[in-house]
Amino acid sequence: MFLEDTIKHAKKGGWIEVICGSMFSGKTEELIRRLRRAEFARLRVEIFKPKIDVRYSEEEVVSHDENSIQSTPVESAQNILLLSSDVDVVGIDEAQFFDLGLVEVCNKLANSGLRVIVAGLDMDFRGKPFGPIPALLASAEYVTKVHAICVRCGSLANHSHRTSEEDDLVVLGETNIYEPLCRKCYQDEVVKNRKS
Ligand code: ZN
Repeated sequence: MFLEDTIKHAKKGGWIEVICGSMFSGKTEELIRRLRRAEFARLRVEIFKPKIDVRYSEEEVVSHDENSIQSTPVESAQNILLLSSDVDVVGIDEAQFFDLGLVEVCNKLANSGLRVIVAGLDMDFRGKPFGPIPALLASAEYVTKVHAICVRCGSLANHSHRTSEEDDLVVLGETNIYEPLCRKCYQDEVVKNRKS
């Protein structure tokens, strides 16, 4: 588990943390856990998510287990910069849906002394790196990859397999059209689909 207490930055500098993994891997739960701890430490916390993610609630970062925390939906990454004055910690959920400008925004925030915690899918349903996440992984001081459990075999899962036919990169929401699969079961699925 990631422990903030072990982070001793000599000078008061900022940094970037990324929490990534497939769907159902507990990314948002881990984001919420860190943000709550920051709030207990009386740090000023602001949480953002892309406006596109309107799954359950306009205002809240909601994880699948309904553990939730108040957040601000924003149109673009630049808005985060404008809305982050007067805070110590910035949380960003569903970061894969932001534009590539998010990388520069996170770096600017960290450079100005803020702690930036980003949670997002590292791969899309095709198994390709997703949006700004790869570049954020490169910039981040701390990276945590969390795993779901493969619904076929019980191994650790790192793929979000889409069970519907839709081809759009962003098909939001419905958790019932995705299933977490391990590498082996995902590959089996790809081979099966190629044949059919
Ligand atoms: Zn499996």
